[in-house]
Amino acid sequence: MADPNSALGSVEVNKFTLQYSCFPNVFALGNCINVLASKTGATIRTQAHVVVANLLSVVEGKKKSDRKI
Ligand SMILES: Cc1cc2nc3c(=O)[nH]c(=O)nc-3n(C[C@H](O)[C@H](O)[C@H](O)COP(=O)(O)OP(=O)(O)OC[C@H]3O[C@@H](n4cnc5c(N)ncnc54)[C@H](O)[C@@H]3O)c2cc1C
Repeated sequence: MADPNSALGSVEVNKFTLQYSCFPNVFALGNCINVLASKTGATIRTQAHVVVANLLSVVEGKKKSDRKI
């Protein structure tokens, strides 16, 4: 899952939807992702809304994950 371009081995996600690039039903948030954002709990609180909405969208069978940061 690690982004090969990341020296830290961060998880490669779409920076808007937080969806993992290889598997549409996988999302990541927090300090481990390759998104250029501050590594804080405050950032994670914002990301959590996006991940929950988009994960539910995938679970409910919708093709797209539209919620964005
Ligand atoms: C000293 C300090 C003060 C901070 N103060 C603030 C603050 O005031 N406000 C704020 O918003 N943010 C603050 N932060 C940042 C905030 O704590 C982090 O952004 C947040 O905890 C990241 O959460 P996370 O779940 O993404 O990662 P983490 O909290 O780092 O959780 C990752 C977990 O994965 C585990 N893990 C790692 N590798 C593996 C592995 N290979 N297998 C299994 N488990 C593994 C780790 O043990 C850890 O439990 C602070 C950070 C530090 C260090």
